[in-house]
Amino acid sequence: MSTNETPTTAIRRALDLQRAAFIAEGAVGIETRKARLQLVIDLVVEHNDALCEAMRDDFGGRPVAFSMMNDVLGSLAALKAARDHLHEWVGDQPRTSVQPFDQFGATAWLKIQPKGVVGIIGTWNAPLFTLLAPLASVFAAGNRAVLKPSEVAPRTAEEVARMVAQGFDPAVLAVVTGGPETATAFTAQPWDHLVFTGSIEVGKRVMKAAAENLVPVTLELGGKSPVLIGRSADIRTAAERIAVGKAMNSGQLCVAPDVVWVPAEKMDEFVAAVREVYAGLFPTIAGNADITPTVNDRHFARVESYVADAGARGARVVMAGDFPSAEGTAERRMPLRLVIGAPADSEIARHEIFGAAMMIETYREIGDAVAAINAGGRPLALYYFGSDEAEQAWVLDHTLSGGVAINDVLMHAALHDAPFGGVGSSGMGHYHGREGFLEFSHLRSVYKAGSHDPRREWGMLPPYGPHFEGMMRASVTR
Ligand code: NAD
Repeated sequence: MSTNETPTTAIRRALDLQRAAFIAEGAVGIETRKARLQLVIDLVVEHNDALCEAMRDDFGGRPVAFSMMNDVLGSLAALKAARDHLHEWVGDQPRTSVQPFDQFGATAWLKIQPKGVVGIIGTWNAPLFTLLAPLASVFAAGNRAVLKPSEVAPRTAEEVARMVAQGFDPAVLAVVTGGPETATAFTAQPWDHLVFTGSIEVGKRVMKAAAENLVPVTLELGGKSPVLIGRSADIRTAAERIAVGKAMNSGQLCVAPDVVWVPAEKMDEFVAAVREVYAGLFPTIAGNADITPTVNDRHFARVESYVADAGARGARVVMAGDFPSAEGTAERRMPLRLVIGAPADSEIARHEIFGAAMMIETYREIGDAVAAINAGGRPLALYYFGSDEAEQAWVLDHTLSGGVAINDVLMHAALHDAPFGGVGSSGMGHYHGREGFLEFSHLRSVYKAGSHDPRREWGMLPPYGPHFEGMMRASVTR
């Protein structure tokens, strides 16, 4: 952005440059798409240390190994899957033509074309992945893109901007950095498609702004992803996998387990098992470099206020792991808090937690737990633990969520051959796999007339006579 430029003019300039180049380019060949994907891969490999250091600093001590796994390797896997499967997705598809014109040579096909220029807005919690995983599908489909990283992870945003500027012609890929003002200006542009990852509240504003220009949106939102532990589940295994998943990024993941539903008689066993597993993973909290701190003071205060509010309203709060200390608090590192029986009107029950706390609820009949889940917004993820196949099928048939993992948590988000996205309040649209490629493509139906048009000789043109009406009547069949 030059000195006198407002966010709006800088973003518009980036969009206009890319749109002009897109229109001038015409067909975007498979080799061009692969080369763009490969260039992102090469840049991420080259800059991976700098990116992980930036993410470490943005969180005040996020483990480099976690950033490597989640953001660097997660992004690389999405980019490589797109590069390696692109040849299976591109190309025209023949379709059945219109009868009886097909008898005279009329044909039809689907031409799968890029939409043009796609805007991508990312989050702080996975500050590289939420930009580059959608970008993999956007580039595979032959589009150009402008990225808007989250201002809550400013070092990573700068590193991404530097990396992209080093490797890419801004007419193909560009980055604009900035806070809510820039983000608002970003969503007001006439993109050919807009991808937003973030909270439900901001997602609503993004969709409204996009509607002004009739821009199609992919909304990757969050919500309260539930876990259902069936009576057939091995409690220890479930507790271990849930604790391990919840500990990732200290619960600051869109698919983190938020509420766990446990059979009433197994609650104590479950709580004890989570505490034991968690304490084994993190014997200490303060100074423990394996624990990702809460990203900033605002989010730390938010999560702590949810826990305090639930406690004040009569919920039982059980600490998993070491006790909080002044040192840990100063580092924004807290043990996992299990909040048992939070009232429905408490803050924690009404909002996505997105931090080091997890609600536990009990049920007598699994149908009651499913009814409670269905009474809320449709979640991004739903998890079922158990060996009862009939119950598993019943749960899946009677719920709807963006994705599902069975006998584990989070893992479905790592599927690169299947779409990732939400439904209802957890969002719309998806990236990853062939479905992600199609999300950012326009499916253009093409009809090509045959060499001979029989309509005149068959009496199908005005002035209509009785023959034509008879012909039409004869065609009204079951
Ligand atoms: P957020 O909604 O606060 O911010 C996300 C992005 O929106 C940022 O880049 C920000 O600059 C931008 N923004 C802020 N105000 C805006 C406005 N008025 N108009 C347009 N853009 C605006 O979300 P966050 O705190 O960064 O991320 C946490 C949320 O994201 C959680 O709800 C989490 O579940 C969700 N999330 C979802 C996924 C997914 O794939 N579904 C992945 C990661 C996070």
